[in-house]
Amino acid sequence: MSLAYVGLGSNLDNPIAQVRQALGELDRLPLSDVASISSLYATPPLGPQDQPNFINAVAALETSLSPLALLDQLQALEQRHRRQRRLHWGPRTLDLDLLLFDRQALDSPRLKLPHWHMHARDFVLVPLYELAPDLMLHQRPLGDWLAELDSAPIRRLTDTDVTPAATI
Ligand code: AMP
Repeated sequence: MSLAYVGLGSNLDNPIAQVRQALGELDRLPLSDVASISSLYATPPLGPQDQPNFINAVAALETSLSPLALLDQLQALEQRHRRQRRLHWGPRTLDLDLLLFDRQALDSPRLKLPHWHMHARDFVLVPLYELAPDLMLHQRPLGDWLAELDSAPIRRLTDTDVTPAATI
């Protein structure tokens, strides 16, 4: 059994619902179970600013899939959410990133582990830190990476923004 961390993001077609539905779908992937999920966060978009804010979260997944088999499953799930990618860094219904897979380091065209820019993205590090504050990333504690970022623009959603999911 391996422990993988998956980053989720959406800013189209009811993003809160997209992310919550995807969390349930992650739990139903073959040979995989969601072990924990972060809060949902509202975050300003990277790149073009004339698009809605993103909703982001991170899930920890216990899985017996290989890293590439898990990536296949995540990409199929994105497709099922009819992901639209007209613009680089543009709006999307669902973006799933494989952030970490145990302590594996990979550098292939299809899969880079740890995920390439995660150390510099508050919308990844803040929810990940919620789940795993003791995690090391590139031989440094997650909290050190986080301390270098300005996480002011990212806002944790509260019960008034989103009612708790009945079942995940
Ligand atoms: P993006 O538009 O950021 O979702 O990037 C998707 C592309 O990145 C796909 O072609 C993936 O094969 C590739 N990729 C490389 N490493 C990863 C990773 N750790 N998680 C998700 N996609 C990845």
